[in-house]
Amino acid sequence: MSACKACMAAIVWIKTPAGKSIPCDATPRYYIEKPRVGSKKIVTPNGQVLSCEYTEDPAKATGVGYVPHWATCPYARQFRRKQNG
Ligand SMILES: [Zn+2]
Repeated sequence: MSACKACMAAIVWIKTPAGKSIPCDATPRYYIEKPRVGSKKIVTPNGQVLSCEYTEDPAKATGVGYVPHWATCPYARQFRRKQNG
């Protein structure tokens, strides 16, 4: 496990099938998959990025995944700028 250089939050790197690694919050979230209408993003443990809504209710969830860290980082703008060079 590593930490965000901007906010020091614990993050995990999830590798996508394309070989790209996405920094995500270390705490898994339950999500409800909503392919067309979901306003949030989730990264599944095997690296797929899905549109979804988050839920606290395991009974409603369609799976467990990881929230991309840029969606929650308080320094997301700075983070993005760094990533873009
Ligand atoms: Zn951060």
